[in-house]
Amino acid sequence: MDVVLPIPIQKAYTYAVTEQEAAFLKKGMRVAVSFGSNSIYTAIVLEIHQNAPMLYEAKEIHQILDETPIVSEFQLKHWEWISSYYMCSLGEVFRAALPSALLLESETVIYKNQAFDDESLLNDEEFLIFEALQHQSQITIQQVSDILGKKKVMPIINQLIKKSVIYIKEEIYEQYKPKLEKYVRLHAKYSDDQSLQKLLSELSNAKKQHLAVLTFFQLNSSKKAIKAKDLEKKAGISSAVLKALVEKNVFELYQLQVDRISFDGSSNSLKSLNEFQEKAFSEIKNEFKEKEIVLLHGITSSGKTEVYSKLIDEQLQAGKQVLFLLPEIALTTQIITRLQTYFGNQISVFHSKYSMNERVEVWHNVLDNKPKAQIILGARSAIFLPFSNLGLIVVDEEHETSYKQFDPSPRYNARDAAIVLAKMHQAKIILGSATPSLESYFNAKQQKYGFVSLHKRFGEVKMPKIELIDLKEKQHKKQLKGHFSDTLLQYIQNALDQKEQVILFQNRRGFSPIVECTSCGFSPQCPNCDVSLTYHKFKQELRCHYCSYQRAMPNSCGACGSNTLDTKGFGTEQIELELKALFPDYVIGRMDLDTTRGKFGYQKIIGAFEAREIDILVGTQMLSKGLDFDNVSLVGILNADNMLNFPDFRAYERAYQIMVQVSGRSGRAQKQGNVAIQTYNPEHPILQQVASTDYEKMFHEQLQERLKFKYPPYFRLIKITLKHKDYTKVDLGINWLFKTLQGVFGEHVLGPSAPSVSRIRNQHIKNLVIKIPPKQSLSATKKQLQKIRNTFEAVKEFRSIRFVIDVDAY
Ligand code: ADP
Ligand code: ZN
Ligand code: ZN
Repeated sequence: MDVVLPIPIQKAYTYAVTEQEAAFLKKGMRVAVSFGSNSIYTAIVLEIHQNAPMLYEAKEIHQILDETPIVSEFQLKHWEWISSYYMCSLGEVFRAALPSALLLESETVIYKNQAFDDESLLNDEEFLIFEALQHQSQITIQQVSDILGKKKVMPIINQLIKKSVIYIKEEIYEQYKPKLEKYVRLHAKYSDDQSLQKLLSELSNAKKQHLAVLTFFQLNSSKKAIKAKDLEKKAGISSAVLKALVEKNVFELYQLQVDRISFDGSSNSLKSLNEFQEKAFSEIKNEFKEKEIVLLHGITSSGKTEVYSKLIDEQLQAGKQVLFLLPEIALTTQIITRLQTYFGNQISVFHSKYSMNERVEVWHNVLDNKPKAQIILGARSAIFLPFSNLGLIVVDEEHETSYKQFDPSPRYNARDAAIVLAKMHQAKIILGSATPSLESYFNAKQQKYGFVSLHKRFGEVKMPKIELIDLKEKQHKKQLKGHFSDTLLQYIQNALDQKEQVILFQNRRGFSPIVECTSCGFSPQCPNCDVSLTYHKFKQELRCHYCSYQRAMPNSCGACGSNTLDTKGFGTEQIELELKALFPDYVIGRMDLDTTRGKFGYQKIIGAFEAREIDILVGTQMLSKGLDFDNVSLVGILNADNMLNFPDFRAYERAYQIMVQVSGRSGRAQKQGNVAIQTYNPEHPILQQVASTDYEKMFHEQLQERLKFKYPPYFRLIKITLKHKDYTKVDLGINWLFKTLQGVFGEHVLGPSAPSVSRIRNQHIKNLVIKIPPKQSLSATKKQLQKIRNTFEAVKEFRSIRFVIDVDAY
């Protein structure tokens, strides 16, 4: 039998099974197998066959973990595509795809769930593990196996996870509440009247127990499951009484899972579309007749979500599943809430910030095509779920770079992988954005995608008025206070006077990105990375944003000893402080990576802003993603230039997208919003295009540049990165690779070059880029690259170098 293991080996691996096992096993079931030096992994069955492997002796499997497949043929096919397109192993895709609770292995570390304290729910083996975890904070599954003196422990672990007794590492673990309720039922032997009468007379001396049984019958008449808590309360008995009855085998305790991810509102009907939305809706359906993919270019607040909802509704009517992809789910509680008011309990949310049990639950619900998993709302990893009956995929904010996974492998773009997924299911897919990616817009122009646009904001809301403020001039005229021009301050004051809210955008977090000594020019660097440390004033710390290194802010210069350390540049924290001084009577909030950690971090801040508890919200580009506030009349961008000065071919496109998206947060019914952009370069073409919201112009100019400099969408890119702690090794490796690749691809190999941060976590980094012309076959290119990679890895000195391939790199 062939299986795929969740490790980066290129091939499937063969194990031996008995005839009986072979008859039971199906493609897509999990088995536990040992691999390498005694490690046990969860593997997925790919194929059952009679061919023994040539090069090694097939080992026996440890055990079968599923009764029925938990991975579908669709998924395996899709994963194979991802593996071949993004040049990684199937095992790496498999590891990324499955929630960790479905992927137990001997090195998996388990912890005790502190909230669990009810031993009565455990059987003997489970109790042993529970007890072991009282003495040790963590144990591995290997140790569980030692404690129980047996090898087949995965089912026990699974039970313990299900009962919320333990959890697994890797989890973002916050406020974990086991959603299991304890219920009581009568033992089966009392199912007839006679034995029941006998029981009651036996209990006549134990008044409380007698009462408990009678009360049970009272409650039981409603035919609903009876909670242990309710029985105790109703009968006025203590849990000791109940326990005694359980020990006498009169009652049994059991658990029922309360739905973790349920929605308690009632569903409302869809809003009726306005004429423009109606038109877009019918155009989309028309395009779908001919094409699988449609790009919806709808300006901010045009009501794209309402149009999607109508499309989703049709799919549900037809009994199909829908996948709704969002760039970052933590930021989009608003959309979740909106869709839930329409579709109620037919929606499940899938996201890596959810606990392991929640993710497993969603997995099974999708697999079983349950009513509550008809619509899956998720970030990029939701493309890995076991859909069987997909009718539509919505990719909202399709231009967002967070759809692309950088690290670890598979480095996939969820938008592109979703297109392939839709095709496999013969489903339709709609890509939506106010600022489409050049790639998608280009594909639409080439008629590869259908195209529909929505150019009216919903209601009477006008597009905001966008003004560029020249910082050079302001500086010259001494009209700057800190980082604020007098104009921007005046606008803020006006908005506040009207009791309206303000959003201020600054693309950097922290207080200031650079600390520099004014005497000698020294600036403190991260010891692990090649980058200056960022000053965080609130904590009086210097931090590295690449490796999380942190140290106290020194009082004097580490090089010359003078106490002339000064800060350069500015981040959100500094803006927040300046605002507090400038507007002491107002509430200032800040939203960036530092203030939004944890599962509910975003929600708290967004909720407070929605509730108008915050007057001015300062934030990074998180603010540009899918938020809809009804009282914001001003958006200020403090410094547009740092977005434009990025050494990246997509920098201008990105800058345009971010600025237009944050601008879109401004404006309310009946009143035009304002946007003020501060810059030292008001003449910059991108800023001019933002000011007039001229997407077409931006598109055409950028496209010219892409063609001229051979970038996507004309040329495809594969980026190769080598990493090692020894600089000379990386250097040797990259030069070898460069020459070899050049021999094959000639002028289309760029590099070698060091990225702007050329050392991270003590690993030196060098890059190469292969550009693939439009007519060159992508798959042939990859084949050649793979061959060269194999040769590279066969060279002894190079073996320890990390070799990273990023297809369609960002
Ligand atoms: P987009 O996603 O295009 O930026 P939204 O879908 O968020 O726009 O819509 C903007 C606002 O207009 C939302 O508050 C939404 O509730 C409202 N809206 C949009 N379309 C309708 C409609 N047909 N009926 C009522 N309200 C609508
Ligand atoms: Zn100095
Ligand atoms: Zn660092």
